[in-house]
Amino acid sequence: MGLSEDIERFESCGKGRGLRARRSFQLGELLFSCPAYTYVLTVNERGNHCDYCFTRKEGLSKCGKCKQAFYCNVECQKGDWPMHKLECSSMCAYGQNWNPSETVRLTARIIAKQKTQTERTQAERFLTVKEFESHLDKLDNEKKELIENDIAALHHYYSKSLHYSDNSALEVLFAQVNCNGFTIEDEELSHLGSAVFPDVALMNHSCCPNVIVTYKGTIAEVRAVQEINAGDEIFTSYIDLLYPTEDRNDRLKDSYFFTCDCKECSTKQKDGAKMEIRKLNDPPSAQTVKDMVKYARNVVEEFRRAKHYKTPSELLEICELSMEKMGAVFEESNVYMLHMMYQAMGVCLYMQDWEGALKYGQKIIKPYSKHYPAYSLNVASMWLKLGRLYMGLEKKTAGTKALKKAINIMEIAHGADHHYITEIKKELEH
Ligand SMILES: [Zn+2]
Ligand SMILES: [Zn+2]
Ligand SMILES: [Zn+2]
Repeated sequence: MGLSEDIERFESCGKGRGLRARRSFQLGELLFSCPAYTYVLTVNERGNHCDYCFTRKEGLSKCGKCKQAFYCNVECQKGDWPMHKLECSSMCAYGQNWNPSETVRLTARIIAKQKTQTERTQAERFLTVKEFESHLDKLDNEKKELIENDIAALHHYYSKSLHYSDNSALEVLFAQVNCNGFTIEDEELSHLGSAVFPDVALMNHSCCPNVIVTYKGTIAEVRAVQEINAGDEIFTSYIDLLYPTEDRNDRLKDSYFFTCDCKECSTKQKDGAKMEIRKLNDPPSAQTVKDMVKYARNVVEEFRRAKHYKTPSELLEICELSMEKMGAVFEESNVYMLHMMYQAMGVCLYMQDWEGALKYGQKIIKPYSKHYPAYSLNVASMWLKLGRLYMGLEKKTAGTKALKKAINIMEIAHGADHHYITEIKKELEH
């Protein structure tokens, strides 16, 4: 578990409560682990992972009733029943029309858990779910409306299987889930599900974090990615650190209601490289650059929405057109160019266009390594995707090199004995 004497809750100056180290930690050392208070497997991964323990394997057996939940064995099925029973009959009744959001599914499980679990859990040694910040008073109308929609969906899909309190208590709960919930990703950063890890949620944010959170099944593990001294506050990152300071703080303000004052945010050291402008004989004017940044931010947002309804080839076209336009002003290492390349790579992977994916990945990896901190899951997963693409395309030398790069980062972030690393080492042997 990691000894609780090694870390402690404290009042962090200007940041409210936080977590602090009581002894020093070496690079890669485990600070603590936290079992999920509650969790839910994402709908798209059904059948690939066990609904109960999140193990990824072939030949899982399905729930005989709804045929929608999959398990390693009878033990996992039994273990999951207190949560699965919230959905099993409802999924049968609604069939194709059963579509609550993942937030609604997770929140239903929190309510069910709170009914049966009245004592403090192993996941709440430093912070309890009840203590979660809601920031309800700071929500704008758009956010309030989203919560109202979630409450309506909860009533719609869970009223038969779950008894819950009045709407005002539900508003608070949904607001708490929105700023304290976690998403669980696999080694390639594909979304696996959502979960609540109260002790992990106690950590404050920094854009130069000294720990990284990874997952072993449904357990969160927190490891040092910088040397930590006794008395140091423990910081994780809440957001993708690729983007420049202003973008990061827009995101933090919008989702978590604060502005970051870390070293990176005050020095803006990496912003220049992140916003690299092409070196032309006739350099673009300040206004041209400003307009292009505005265009870039819009296209990022446009693509995010388009993902839900456009075809893969339409999405690729958005990527290519926007890169062509931005390429007149931005270097290829500019984060807005990288963002679109990353999206294009994702579409290629989805379409099983391995050469296309590889082409984008090769362009992304070097600037990625420069923009992200030394130990980053984004960089590790990019090396891993590249390595697997090379191996699949019979390019063994490049594949071996890339997979080893991924392992180097993952040994620190995930711990050397993580099953992901064991699997990659097997891929290296073949
Ligand atoms: Zn299982
Ligand atoms: Zn079922
Ligand atoms: Zn910061």
